[in-house]
Amino acid sequence: MLLINCPFCGAREEHEFHYGGQAHITRPADPEQVDDKAWADYLYYRKNTLGLQAERWQHSFGCGQWFNALRCSQTHQFKAVYKMGDDAPEGLQ
Ligand SMILES: [Zn+2]
Repeated sequence: MLLINCPFCGAREEHEFHYGGQAHITRPADPEQVDDKAWADYLYYRKNTLGLQAERWQHSFGCGQWFNALRCSQTHQFKAVYKMGDDAPEGLQ
């Protein structure tokens, strides 16, 4: 069983969590000034990294909080978890 370390609750089993996609996606500051390609990139296009990637996760069957995680997509190993709005830990990206 894979354990995920919720930054609010501690280690819990993976079935308590939901994947929320790529982390650190920033909405354009002035959406009316961006072209269609930039808007489509923001809405639809995500990285598909083989290796370490920053992801959003929710402890949906626990505290309900969202947080970010650095996870290896090849081994599924979580390298770090950190709160939304925080930068990824140095040296891991
Ligand atoms: Zn939690």
